[in-house]
Amino acid sequence: MNNKPSLWKQTMNKVRTWARMNSIGAIHFNSGSCNGCDIEILATLTPRYDVERFGIKLHGSPRHADVLLVTGPVTRQARERLIRTYEQMPEPKFVISVGACSISGGVFDGCYNVGGSVDEVIPVDVFVPGCPPRPEAIIDGIIQLLGQLQGGAPRPVAKPKMTGEVSS
Ligand code: SF4
Repeated sequence: MNNKPSLWKQTMNKVRTWARMNSIGAIHFNSGSCNGCDIEILATLTPRYDVERFGIKLHGSPRHADVLLVTGPVTRQARERLIRTYEQMPEPKFVISVGACSISGGVFDGCYNVGGSVDEVIPVDVFVPGCPPRPEAIIDGIIQLLGQLQGGAPRPVAKPKMTGEVSS
């Protein structure tokens, strides 16, 4: 049996990818950041750095978003909200982890109220290091994601370590 998608499906997938790459909806979630990374994300949206030139716009609802930008370590208080926000996003969805704290816990690693890094809770597609990362680095992370979208790279899976361990 031929499992190859039909020409119509292939064409539709190409059109969908093209449209998605030119009109990404993003949502920002602070899972415990000191606000340094959040200020840099805001700077990225200003006319000086103008991330909208890539067709990226910030949305207020996860139901309208393709990309979740997460800043900070995942605190016990924010963990369930982060999972709920991620689950409310329609498929296909992507996650960019912004800043050292979201990647490894950073300066908050080991704090009584911190559960761990973002990829221990939800799958992360792109990591943007820095404390805080400059707008250029955040834009670079977005471009990396667009490249992955174009190439049809498979999505990562979350490291399961923190999924059941952190009690509220
Ligand atoms: S990476 Fe630096 S700026 Fe960002 S949340 Fe952590 S301490 Fe704050």
